[in-house]
Amino acid sequence: MRRMSRRDYYEVLSVPRDASDADIKKAFRGLARDLHPDLNPDDPAAADRFKEAAEAYEVLSDPEKRGRYDRFGHDGLSGAQFHTDQFMDFGSLSDLLGAFFGEDVLFGGRAAERGRDATAAIELSFEEAAFGVEREVTFQTIGECDRCGGDGAEPGTTPERCPTCEGRGRIQRVQQTALGQFVQTLACPECRGRGSIIDTPCTTCHGAGRVAMQRTATVAVPGGIADGQRISLRGQGGAGAPGAPPGDLYVSVGVRRDERFERDGDDVVSVIDLPFTQAALGTQMTVPTLDGEERVDLPAGTQPGDVIVLRGKGVGRLRGRGRGDHRIHVNVLVPRRLTDEQRRQLEAFERDAGPDTYAGDGSLLGRIRAAFR
Ligand code: ZN
Repeated sequence: MRRMSRRDYYEVLSVPRDASDADIKKAFRGLARDLHPDLNPDDPAAADRFKEAAEAYEVLSDPEKRGRYDRFGHDGLSGAQFHTDQFMDFGSLSDLLGAFFGEDVLFGGRAAERGRDATAAIELSFEEAAFGVEREVTFQTIGECDRCGGDGAEPGTTPERCPTCEGRGRIQRVQQTALGQFVQTLACPECRGRGSIIDTPCTTCHGAGRVAMQRTATVAVPGGIADGQRISLRGQGGAGAPGAPPGDLYVSVGVRRDERFERDGDDVVSVIDLPFTQAALGTQMTVPTLDGEERVDLPAGTQPGDVIVLRGKGVGRLRGRGRGDHRIHVNVLVPRRLTDEQRRQLEAFERDAGPDTYAGDGSLLGRIRAAFR
């Protein structure tokens, strides 16, 4: 078999080198759930990563192979046979997990399907995205049937206990594999995992126990979320078949433009227009910030492209504490039309001005660079 990669097995499973067998099993089970090809039909990379994880699990779960790997690394296993393709050959994720962990996992299979994922979209104002907000979303999904309470039987009738699985909803099957003998737990084929057989199906859901419906969920949007990001709510999607977990809800976030602000990561960026006379003489101005109006000092000699930084007045950091900064870029307004009188005054100013009038510390390019830091 072609070896997938030479990544360190402990790294692949994200476990420390002294991880216990239980830790290793747990790590692989988590990865198997995330990466199994059943759940990632559109992502070929997931299949490769799944194989990589399966190989790492196969080595680290076997004391003899693990010992050789610990001492000699990948070289210690040269010539070893891997069975990762066999992990892939299990008909479904539930079969795989059932086989390897003896678990009662009845999703991913044909009979007991995990619920479908649902999607919703929300649109936030600039401030809501900056600080976070709670929102209700309404979305179409598959939910438990109200009429029958999800058991699929018409009210007044009772589902019969399934004779094949005796009401357990699952059967056990012993399977021989290259890794030894495994007892698989499968959804009962007779009742499809319900444990019961319905004689009189519910007239609303026709026995399915599930119906299309509109549902509402509350989304806690964290401060600092950006336009185009997605929030996932585990288990808030469509109801699964009996015994199977529900799907997830994915909420895509749109952020409305704000006339006053632009966003640059966690920083808020805005611009103030400052008449050249006030730039030269110095002034105070009121500027909008996320926290309301704020007064800023513009000292005499303020230059075009100067940036005033209001520390901690930016957007909440999505990961981590605190907030970014608010950067105010100064746009100096130069007159485009002068009256005769204004022209005379400026000409008088010009006659009086010399190199000292404009001498400063650094170029505009230098200041623009500083503003990007
Ligand atoms: Zn029903």
